[in-house]
Amino acid sequence: MDTASHIYDIIIVGAGPAGLAVAARLHERTPSALFTDSEHQRYHWMKASSSSLRTSRPARSTRRASTRQDRLLRGDSSIDAGGLDIAVLDAHGDKWMSAWDEKFEQLKISHLRSPMFFHPDPRDRDGLLGFVYQEGREKELREIPGVVGKGLSKYQRKKSIKSGRYPQETSYLDERNRPDYYRPSQSVFQAYCQDIVKRYNLSNLVQKSDVTSISHDSFSGIFTLQTSTGVKRARIVILAVGAALPPTLPPDCPFCGLEKAGSVTHAFRKRPSSPTLNTLPPHVLRKIQAGRPTNVVVVGGGLTSAQVTATLLHQGVSKVHQLVRGPLKVRHFDLDLPWVGKYRNFHLASFWGADSDHERADMIREARGGGSITPEYKKILHELVKSRRLELREYTTITRATWDEAAMCWEIGTEPQLEMPPIDHVVYATGVVADFETVPAVQPLLEQYGIETVGGMPCLTDDLMWNDEVPLFVTGRLAGLRLGPAAGNLEGARQGAERIAWKVGELLKKWDGVDQNLEDGYGREEEEEVDSRRLGLGLENQFGVLGLSEVEC
Ligand SMILES: Cc1cc2nc3c(=O)[nH]c(=O)nc-3n(C[C@H](O)[C@H](O)[C@H](O)COP(=O)(O)OP(=O)(O)OC[C@H]3O[C@@H](n4cnc5c(N)ncnc54)[C@H](O)[C@@H]3O)c2cc1C
Repeated sequence: MDTASHIYDIIIVGAGPAGLAVAARLHERTPSALFTDSEHQRYHWMKASSSSLRTSRPARSTRRASTRQDRLLRGDSSIDAGGLDIAVLDAHGDKWMSAWDEKFEQLKISHLRSPMFFHPDPRDRDGLLGFVYQEGREKELREIPGVVGKGLSKYQRKKSIKSGRYPQETSYLDERNRPDYYRPSQSVFQAYCQDIVKRYNLSNLVQKSDVTSISHDSFSGIFTLQTSTGVKRARIVILAVGAALPPTLPPDCPFCGLEKAGSVTHAFRKRPSSPTLNTLPPHVLRKIQAGRPTNVVVVGGGLTSAQVTATLLHQGVSKVHQLVRGPLKVRHFDLDLPWVGKYRNFHLASFWGADSDHERADMIREARGGGSITPEYKKILHELVKSRRLELREYTTITRATWDEAAMCWEIGTEPQLEMPPIDHVVYATGVVADFETVPAVQPLLEQYGIETVGGMPCLTDDLMWNDEVPLFVTGRLAGLRLGPAAGNLEGARQGAERIAWKVGELLKKWDGVDQNLEDGYGREEEEEVDSRRLGLGLENQFGVLGLSEVEC
């Protein structure tokens, strides 16, 4: 069946959280609850500004057979993916979440950084929390100090915020939502993702396959994907590829061009001879085994840099020198609290209402604010500094590096100037840039159809599609201009899946002629209509769709 002539309905590229969220949502019959009805009543302007969010007409059901309430409960515009022919291709492995699981295992990350409602399950916002209770695994949740936890009264929390003891403002976190603001263990999150896979029967979809090029025939409407496992074809392609680019050293760092000559790497790059991330090169391992002192530099101020530092010391390195370009920022989450808090939809509404994508890109930059570490890791680093195994330098950059082949170490110069011993190995933990225009796989599409990009992200339609003629969808971090600052996090995965599923449903119905009334019936006031697409997208509340005023409700 899997030959070049076979045409899939949908190919999802990427089996990480964003790909899983889309696949699950395509198998889910009811829309996700991304907004509460009370939120819509509070933010009436969200509805007012919502017309600008659409680039294509919403799907409207005009079947007369059932009542409006029936249709609301059934979610008419959702599609039954049981009959869909879907393949998921992932360069890393043939299992869901294999790249995620590997990172967490090799960096020895025990708990997620995000709160309980950040997850890829389309069915229920509180699904992860419910799973934890159902499995009796409450002990695996970790308290977020100063935000939740039995030990701190309201008065104590106020006092601690005032004293500056806790790094992020907590006033957005309502006391009633305490259970949301715990962090799940990786183990419980992993089990929950497996539960999603099982529940939606997704286990056989993933193939290990690296997609190198995607082209589209505008006449037949078919995509052709060149992959490491041969040519594949599909009517719809969904890119859920994270940043989509391999991790590289910052272009302005003095090690560029010296990667083959000396011992320097990026934290997320595997050594050619090793199947695992973050492994030390043989010359450093030999020194450790011989009991000789070793010095490694870690560059970066994000959570990954702290995790790499801790892992290297755990592996036996004698001393790590961690260099941070600016101040070491401490935050609970990797984006500002208002974007994670209960009222984040208020901020999202201003994001969507921004005048331009440039303004949105600025909002993303501001909300994410560069790398930061959690209070938990601040404590770990502090202990390591105290024990003299870590030298932590803020406001410091490497200006010069020379590799001594005979001694197998670097001589490094910094600004401001530091006394640095010979350095055995350098690890850059500086994140991965997003630059859609340089993603190899989309080059044929860029040539054929072009697309504007801002801040390295494509200016997609509000349905996350390339344009109204090219059904290639993008979700996750690269869809940031439409999904907001949390696009690259688990929350973005769920939001992206929701928008894509609605549009996919609309396209398939149109192509297959399943519901001709979709087009014909649009705008016929005399018919009973439920705009369930707007409901599913959270652009309308149930009372509004039913035509009931707030007083009647
Ligand atoms: C160490 C670490 C910890 C994190 N912790 C959290 C957290 O606790 N909470 C949170 O919300 N976020 C966290 N994040 C952010 C995290 O990256 C995202 O939440 C999540 O991974 C985004 O999922 P994604 O599916 O969009 O991208 P990814 O997880 O990057 O998945 C993309 C997938 O696409 C595949 N792929 C890419 N290109 C191709 C290609 N050409 N062909 C085939 N396959 C391809 C990759 O192999 C990969 O499996 C963390 C990030 C890191 C690095």
